[in-house]
Amino acid sequence: MSLKIAVYPGSFDPLTKGHFDIIQRAATVFDKLIVCVMVNNSKNYLFSSEERKNLIKENLSELDNVEVDTYDGLLIDYVKSRNTNIIVKGLRALTDFENEFQMALTNKHLDNNIETFFMMTSNKYSYLSSSLVKELVKFQGNVSDFIPANVEKAIQKKHEEGSIK
Ligand code: ADP
Repeated sequence: MSLKIAVYPGSFDPLTKGHFDIIQRAATVFDKLIVCVMVNNSKNYLFSSEERKNLIKENLSELDNVEVDTYDGLLIDYVKSRNTNIIVKGLRALTDFENEFQMALTNKHLDNNIETFFMMTSNKYSYLSSSLVKELVKFQGNVSDFIPANVEKAIQKKHEEGSIK
């Protein structure tokens, strides 16, 4: 039987406990999970792609079938380059559905072999997003329930450097 490899793409700017919950759960479903930090040059990120990648990596010590990578092209090209056809996405409340529906059908149109699997968010993270975290961070709100400890530290450092406006 061939190994089931899945790619979990996103901005992860920064990693939240909602993302991490999907990573942990997807890692039990697939033989190998590749978290792919996507780079979109028209977006303004809080963390560089290397920083985002490392912040994810630092949380993977107990997940030995999870790898992290970065990519700045078309997602389906990356998926094919990793010899798989499986994309995993997390699904929060209604807000995610329309976007994800559009992306999944577009990817299927571009390559009929691509399959997108959706994992429902855990109830406690259903309202959580990186943008919410970034909004709270701007006003020095407490985000410790929403992000892993290393991400919180990295945000504090950005504050001290004055790079959060
Ligand atoms: P965001 O910036 O909105 O947090 P990302 O592009 O980093 O989004 O998200 C990557 C993937 O993770 C998407 O499939 C998104 O739906 C999913 N995701 C983000 N936050 C959560 C959450 N709290 N629960 C479940 N899935 C999530």
